[in-house]
Amino acid sequence: MSDDPGSILRLEGLRKSYNLGKPNEIEVLHGIDLTIGPHDFAALVGPSGSGKSTLLNMLGLLDEPTSGELYLLGRPTARMSDAERTALRGAQLGFVFQFHHLIQAFTSVENVLMPLMLAKGKPSREDREYAIDLLDEVGLRKYADVKPSDLSGGQQQRVAIARALVTRPALLLADEPTGNLDTKTAANVFELFRRFNQTFNCAVLIVTHDARLSASCDRTITLVDGRIVSDEVEVSQKADN
Ligand code: ADP
Repeated sequence: MSDDPGSILRLEGLRKSYNLGKPNEIEVLHGIDLTIGPHDFAALVGPSGSGKSTLLNMLGLLDEPTSGELYLLGRPTARMSDAERTALRGAQLGFVFQFHHLIQAFTSVENVLMPLMLAKGKPSREDREYAIDLLDEVGLRKYADVKPSDLSGGQQQRVAIARALVTRPALLLADEPTGNLDTKTAANVFELFRRFNQTFNCAVLIVTHDARLSASCDRTITLVDGRIVSDEVEVSQKADN
């Protein structure tokens, strides 16, 4: 069955257990209902162990729910094959992690092009130009041919952000994206997410412990013990909608 194509992501009664069928089976997500819209700029917060990483893995189609359904752009994903899930993930989702996992042997622009290379092989000249435009957006045009070891931590994180956006994803998922950055660099990275959210119409969901970062988002989803206990939208956003 198809779903409302207006939402980017919709979760319905999503549950996740680890060690299924074993004596140490444990359910860590207890029926999550959640919708992410195309303009959302949201934070996912909650205490350690509340299930944020588990939920992020579901949202990113990196792991499968035990039950429930997850619709990505209206398409039900729970019963998709691994190949279908991988293709959908590659086409529609961008990921930014605290540790950016850049390939050390590659230059900045080659790292940015990686998701396109994985999806379709050799990048075209236009792809390369777009990757350089993205590096320009993150203030790193002149570092296009530099390898990660010659960049600062903040610069490497900005390369990772450009890489996450090169496929023009519908949703950017970020896990503690500013966790290892100083305050000023963290603010710059946050600004970038904002700009991409507005300019490229890319929904953004940021998992963070940083209260200042979550307070700067338009929406804050709070997870406690595997349940969403609050989902608050900024007053100014409510007025806009
Ligand atoms: P958070 O990201 O909010 O810290 P997690 O999603 O990492 O929370 O963990 C939620 C719960 O699931 C915790 O109790 C954790 O111990 C448990 N958990 C996470 N991953 C696994 C796993 N692979 N196997 C068993 N339990 C896990």
